[in-house]
Amino acid sequence: MSFSLSGELLARPTPFYHYDLSLLRRTLEAVQQAARPRGFHVHYALKANVNEPILRLIKEHGLGADCVSANEVQRALDTGFAPQDIVFAGVGKTDAEITRALAADIWCFNAESAQELVVLNELAGGQNRRARVALRVNPNVDAHTHHYITTGLEANKFGIGLNDLPAVVEQLATLPNLELVGLHAHIGSQITDLAVFAELSQKLNELQTWLEEQGYTLPHLNVGGGLGIDYNDPDTNPIPDFEAYFRTFEQHLIRRPGQQVHVELGRAIVAQCGTLVSRVLYVKRSQQTQFAILDAGLTELIRPALYGSHHHIQNLSSQGDIQPYDVVGPICESSDTFGRAVPLPETQRGDLVVLRSAGAYGEVMSSGYNLREKAEAVYS
Ligand SMILES: *Cc1c(COP(=O)(O)O)cnc(C)c1O
Repeated sequence: MSFSLSGELLARPTPFYHYDLSLLRRTLEAVQQAARPRGFHVHYALKANVNEPILRLIKEHGLGADCVSANEVQRALDTGFAPQDIVFAGVGKTDAEITRALAADIWCFNAESAQELVVLNELAGGQNRRARVALRVNPNVDAHTHHYITTGLEANKFGIGLNDLPAVVEQLATLPNLELVGLHAHIGSQITDLAVFAELSQKLNELQTWLEEQGYTLPHLNVGGGLGIDYNDPDTNPIPDFEAYFRTFEQHLIRRPGQQVHVELGRAIVAQCGTLVSRVLYVKRSQQTQFAILDAGLTELIRPALYGSHHHIQNLSSQGDIQPYDVVGPICESSDTFGRAVPLPETQRGDLVVLRSAGAYGEVMSSGYNLREKAEAVYS
């Protein structure tokens, strides 16, 4: 299967985001088919993409919501996610955000520090509530991914370090408005080596045994998200191997009787259904290279500039001879480059060029830098 756009879309002004809702539907069916028989609960990480038609479809397939701000919690509620299916993570939740999430009676706060637990306890008491919390631990597992999207190493700001855990657990006994319901970990993003998840499982097994020795039994475990996708070849691998992903946890995570296991997937659900569609404004040749200058830039898709990440780039208009192009955007930053020496058929002004796998961390990270207008989203 290769990417194409219908005639109507070919004539649209660019740049725009295109979302293939039928691929999203198939992805959601695949993830639930792999998760449900194994008794795993899938939460969708809203931060990857919060467009209404996408959220609605995700909700219809029975996923829960994983939020990292009170506005995301609100968006999830507005979409129809039930409060008991919403978790709230984040290393810097404000008092106002915690207050709003408590009032909404969401299922669980993934707490990331000793201080946050104190604040949460106090704010819950003020509302005469008991907040359900999972301790987000930093298990010091190397996700073998880009260092900007690694979150589970001691050098990262996320989670409670293993050294601090005993003191935090001791502190819990002094916080009557908190109910410890589980352990949480999220160690990074775009993880393609499943051995990383096996290692995470082993760390959680040890921590769980240790917590039981402290007198805590945990009804829930949350292993976070981070499953990667194939950015190089989205047509061959449009849907991640969810079977292998859940099998890894099934084999390595030692679940207690009746214990619920949760995952929080963002990228793996929505990345492949989204494409950034742009037109070539100019082709500019220098001594060393030739540039294809697009009308889309880092304002529409910042991942290459931010993480040096790769998106598959295709020229839909040309059948010419393959040549190398530096594919760049119009923004006044040298990092506004989508790829260097990208092999493309001979490219001209006006050609349609698409950046694939842009459904996750694309539109949500768009900005108005250079006073650019927000690119629209279309669905088919
Ligand atoms: C970002 C995030 C996720 C989702 O990560 P993906 O790599 O998109 O699957 C899950 N959990 C938490 C806590 C996150 O911050």
